[in-house]
Amino acid sequence: MTELDKKQIGVPVPADWAYARLQERYGHFVGGDWLEPAETYTTISPATEEPLAEVGQATPEEVDRAVAAARAAFENGWSGLAASERAKYLFRIARILQERAREFAVLESLNGGKPIKESRDVDLPLAAAHFFYYAGWADKLEYAFPNRRPHPIGVAGQIIPWNFPLLMLAWKIAPALAAGNTVVLKPAETTPLTALLFADVLRQAELPAGVVNLLTGDGRTGAALVEHPGVDKIAFTGSTEVGKAIQRQLAGSGKRLTLELGGKAANIVFDDAALDQAVEGIVNGIYFNQGHVCCAGSRLFVQESIYEPLVEKLRRRLETLRVGDPLDKNTDVGAINSAQQLAKIRELVASGEEEGAQIYQPPCRLPEKGYWFVPTVFTEVAQSYRIAQEEIFGPVLSVLTFRTPEEALEKANNTPYGLSAGVWTEKGSRILWMAQRLRAGVVWANTFNRFDPTSPFGGYKESGFGREGGLHGLEPYLRFDE
Ligand code: ADP
Repeated sequence: MTELDKKQIGVPVPADWAYARLQERYGHFVGGDWLEPAETYTTISPATEEPLAEVGQATPEEVDRAVAAARAAFENGWSGLAASERAKYLFRIARILQERAREFAVLESLNGGKPIKESRDVDLPLAAAHFFYYAGWADKLEYAFPNRRPHPIGVAGQIIPWNFPLLMLAWKIAPALAAGNTVVLKPAETTPLTALLFADVLRQAELPAGVVNLLTGDGRTGAALVEHPGVDKIAFTGSTEVGKAIQRQLAGSGKRLTLELGGKAANIVFDDAALDQAVEGIVNGIYFNQGHVCCAGSRLFVQESIYEPLVEKLRRRLETLRVGDPLDKNTDVGAINSAQQLAKIRELVASGEEEGAQIYQPPCRLPEKGYWFVPTVFTEVAQSYRIAQEEIFGPVLSVLTFRTPEEALEKANNTPYGLSAGVWTEKGSRILWMAQRLRAGVVWANTFNRFDPTSPFGGYKESGFGREGGLHGLEPYLRFDE
């Protein structure tokens, strides 16, 4: 065994597939029951390319049935239920998610490719925390919005991406139900399995039939849901391109819309920052979840005087990252979610090399099957390069430099996006100065990629509009008598 093999392989500690309890075939969850799908496709493991299950590709007729079930549930009980009763269901869902966390975490890593330590320690606890948090608001809406008399809107159509499948489901469903709406949700086509397992949680919680309906399928199903006249509100998280198409499609329809779209976050390190801590934050900012994170810190701005020591520390830290089996508890960077996403990452990385940036990738042996990309750092990047402008949504960092806070700010804001940003400095006054001027929905100081259900999350500019999380996250699901 070579030194590289030892570092890469170590002692594998894979989680057991059996926890995932896969079915061979799944239908759509409509009106509290399984609906046999008219069309299906195969969902795979991106780490091995092995087929995992057959799932439905929902047709417009199936979308129609799900919307009708949600409407019936809204009108025949859910919207009129005492708010304290609604809260009980949300608390139950939260507790069941905690109890079944291991099953969900294994399935999430299997179907999505993310390391088990992330699905176990981040996705699952946060998903449960969202249900707990919004359960608490369900019977306090009148206090949350004093003198505004809040009411539910009706049927919410929710479309989510593949990077945090269960967590995004929780971000969408918890506030919608707390506000008294019913839901039709579509997970992304590459990661349907935890949403389908969530149907089992809903049954266990005895949520009334039709309050939450789950349809699987690709963008065609999403488009049919967006168009459906029986849907009162669309909540979408995904690419800026599809978000813009949805906004055009809904113009003039009177349907409510919130969009959480792409990002190209600046992570800014000043020369007085604690460098080792900053390196950890940089690594977490861009390699967490293989960089499949809309708020990933994909543009690193380093103050010129610390550029060399920082880049050196970063390279050394990259050499310790373990890339491989998502189910191995020692894995830091798992599989890329799909062949399509891998092709996109490769294309952008090739453009970076062609445009003249310097690429660094640590020595790394990748599995033969599956979709993988070595954690990558680009230095000597100019602001005009595609790798500094476009969202890569992969484990690829572009490093740029600055001299003064004004220059850092100008460069950081020089993007059509505005979802998040990070600032690393010892000076509190500088943190505040930067936070006030950065055009980003979330600004982290001396940390990165921290989430909490109480804290609103959302974008500026082409990163979208509307907020999820916190009190703000309830507002898009309510109408008010003003
Ligand atoms: P990505 O490029 O990261 O896959 P997408 O925006 O394509 O992001 O996907 C996010 C979600 O939007 C997925 O659930 C996908 O199926 C859905 N989707 C894709 N195209 C459309 C569309 N035209 N209308 C509605 N939903 C769509």
